[in-house]
Amino acid sequence: MDDSALLRYSRQILLPGFDIDGQQALLESKVLVVGLGGLGSSASLYLAAGGVGQLVIADADRVELSNLQRQILYRQSDLGTHKAVAAQAALEALNPECQIEPLALRLSGTQLEEAVERSNLVLDCVDNFETRRKLNIACWQHKKPLVSAAALGMTGQLTAFDANTDDSPCYECLYEETPNEENASCSENGVLGPVVGLLGSAQAIEAIKILAGVGEPLVGRLLVLDATTMDWHCFRLSRRTGCQICGETRKPSSALF
Ligand SMILES: [Zn+2]
Repeated sequence: MDDSALLRYSRQILLPGFDIDGQQALLESKVLVVGLGGLGSSASLYLAAGGVGQLVIADADRVELSNLQRQILYRQSDLGTHKAVAAQAALEALNPECQIEPLALRLSGTQLEEAVERSNLVLDCVDNFETRRKLNIACWQHKKPLVSAAALGMTGQLTAFDANTDDSPCYECLYEETPNEENASCSENGVLGPVVGLLGSAQAIEAIKILAGVGEPLVGRLLVLDATTMDWHCFRLSRRTGCQICGETRKPSSALF
C-alpha cells in the first residue's frame, strides 16, 4: 500500500480491529452491486470511498428526474444517461483508485451467474423479487456472501446470507412465497430518501465487515427499521428445513414411526 493509500484510508485503518491487513483485504476485493437506485447509490459510494478495489455495478435503467430525490449517485446533468455509466463517472471521481466495471443491463441468466462467480461479495440493491431470487441461488451455488436490503416508505430491512457460514439461512428461507411485487417497489410507492440511503449505508458496513473480517456479520439476523419512530428491531432468522436452496430435505427416519 503506497503513502497516498495509507493517507486516504488512515481513519479506517485506525479503527479497533481494522488494521492494514483489513484495508488490504478490501483493496483486493471485488464487489458486485446489483441495482443502482437509492440503496445502490449510498452503498457503492461508501464502498468506493472505503477502498474496495473493484466494483461491478449493474442496472438497466436510465436516470430520471424522480430518481434524484434519493439516488445520490446522480446529478441533474445525468438525466437520460444510463445509471451504470453515470455511476461509474461519480465513483471514479470520488476514488480513481477504485476500478469500476459498469453493466448497463438487467442481470440474468449466464451473465448473472458469471458476475456472481467472479465477485467476492454481492450486494442486493434491486427492487424486484425475481432478480433477488436469482441472486440468492447464484450466491448460494458459488458460496458468495449476499447482503440484502429493502426500503419502502419510512421502513427498511437488512440481512446477510453466507453459504460459508454454518446454518446461514438464505433469501428463500425469508420469503417462501413471493410477496406482492406491486406493493414493494419505490418507483410505484413513496420512500423517504434518507431512509433508503441509511439502508444502503448499512449494506456497505456489512460488506466491509465481511470482506475485512471485522466484527460480527448480520448472518442469521434480520434488522428492521421503522423510521417514523426510529425504532430498530432485530429478529433471529433460521434456515428453513426443506428450503429448496439451502435446506437439507431430510426424509423422516422409519425408526421414528
Ligand atoms: Zn434457504
